[in-house]
Amino acid sequence: MVMIKNRVELETINPYVTAQRQVEAAARKLGIEEHVIEILKRPMRVLTVNFPVKMDDGTIQVFEGYRSQHNDVVGPTKGGIRFHPDVTLDEVKALSMWMSFKCGVVGLPYGGGKGGVICDPRKLSKSELERVSRGFIEAISQIIGPEKDIPAPDVYTNPQVMAWMMDSFSKLNGSYSPAVITGKPLILGGSEGRNEATARGCVITICEAMKQLNLPLEGATVAIQGFGNAGRISANLLAELGCKIVAVSDSKGAIYDPEGLDLAKVEQLKDEATILDYGTSYQIDPSSLLELNVDVLVPAALENVITQANADRIQAKIIAEAANGPTTPEADEILKANGVLVIPDILANAGGVTVSYFEWVQNLMNYYWSEEEVNEKLSTIMVRSYHEVSKLAEEYDTDLRTAAYMISILRIKKAMKLRGWI
Ligand code: GLU
Repeated sequence: MVMIKNRVELETINPYVTAQRQVEAAARKLGIEEHVIEILKRPMRVLTVNFPVKMDDGTIQVFEGYRSQHNDVVGPTKGGIRFHPDVTLDEVKALSMWMSFKCGVVGLPYGGGKGGVICDPRKLSKSELERVSRGFIEAISQIIGPEKDIPAPDVYTNPQVMAWMMDSFSKLNGSYSPAVITGKPLILGGSEGRNEATARGCVITICEAMKQLNLPLEGATVAIQGFGNAGRISANLLAELGCKIVAVSDSKGAIYDPEGLDLAKVEQLKDEATILDYGTSYQIDPSSLLELNVDVLVPAALENVITQANADRIQAKIIAEAANGPTTPEADEILKANGVLVIPDILANAGGVTVSYFEWVQNLMNYYWSEEEVNEKLSTIMVRSYHEVSKLAEEYDTDLRTAAYMISILRIKKAMKLRGWI
């Protein structure tokens, strides 16, 4: 027998490998043919770009970026653009795969795409950020477009960045092209409700899961890792529903109050300086946030935070993955054995791309919906998708992640068959 000395070393931490393992697991459960699995395990197109940007001090810096398009059998590819110093090509490929399966779970007529630029926007001036945004979109302009591939915000990009990108593309294209990108400011063809959509969708799935587990929302304790778009708005929406937000963290640290945090104060501190100003006595080690004894844990930051190194110590009853790829396959096994209900990223955070789809539809029609209409349509899709996934998971005696992949895989396979690809 081979002794495994250090299991942690053997863990999958390359998100591309994680995504491939997730696809394989679900496909094998369905008895899908090898050649179909081979197609689904890789992006169909990947572009690497290096583009020069003039910095404020007059120097030129070359930035590297990627756009990965996973599969466009049911429609154009779709997915955000991430600006982060740790972006890698494999990460972007994985994120594009997750987008395909995410769109499939909620039934959108899109495949998956994702972009990333290696940069730290926290260290760029506003004008440098604008030049990086425009430089990247110019560099990938040949492969994007309203009927080809439609970017959107992701980690450390926002509606202003989308506005610059839309502007550059429209100028290159010679016509106003709002439908090339989603997550834009309202005045430039953005959709009501888009900014809150990822969080709103995530909270809807949490509500459905709580109902299934017979857990009351009122007074339920919640820990949230990440205080960006998804984490911050999820915190607010859950608090509105009566939940108690006991812990939040951002890239600088974490705070915890078992009695419940004063969210308005946390938000004010975040905007002014740092959430850590909440008080030294409330500060905790950010990694321990994940292990708190709470009802709901919302990882809303980056990949690979729940691993086999800490999965066994997770006490939450429900994990709602607002982030993409926060849980490794090894951790998934441990959580399943421990009875933790994981609402997988491709379902839990699908609200963002769902309202992106609504934005694109509105752009193409040039006719705009009210926030109530958007939220109602989003809610219908999220509730239906949650129960479809949950039902299939029960039928196949599997977890929600595998079931969510199964729904998407069947859909993509059917389209590939009909189009004669397989
Ligand atoms: N970046 C978001 C995601 O990972 C949104 C993508 C989109 O709206 O196209 O789902």
